[in-house]
Amino acid sequence: MALCSLCGKKEVMPFTCKFCGNKYCADHRLPENHECLGLQKFKEQRSKEPEKWIYDPFHTKYKEAPVGRKTPKPWAERLSEALKTKALLYAVLGIILLAIVLGALGFL
Ligand SMILES: [Zn+2]
Ligand SMILES: [Zn+2]
Repeated sequence: MALCSLCGKKEVMPFTCKFCGNKYCADHRLPENHECLGLQKFKEQRSKEPEKWIYDPFHTKYKEAPVGRKTPKPWAERLSEALKTKALLYAVLGIILLAIVLGALGFL
């Protein structure tokens, strides 16, 4: 049991902010929701070396970008990758469709 550092609500399962270390209720656990001083400091630091950090929405925290992916891929490269993925998808769908048609006609 702890009290939320912002609103003072009793919280059975308090969330500890990774940036400032204070405890918060579910409503104020995100740095954005308690005007986190730790996050502000972090953002200042991050603005000095922005390519080093990426935002991870699922864990509501910032983490270091994996080595070797510091810059986003050029759009041409991304497009060709997307086309490859789509071509594979259509090929699989085509085979499945063919199997269904053949099965319906009694060939299988
Ligand atoms: Zn609160
Ligand atoms: Zn905080």
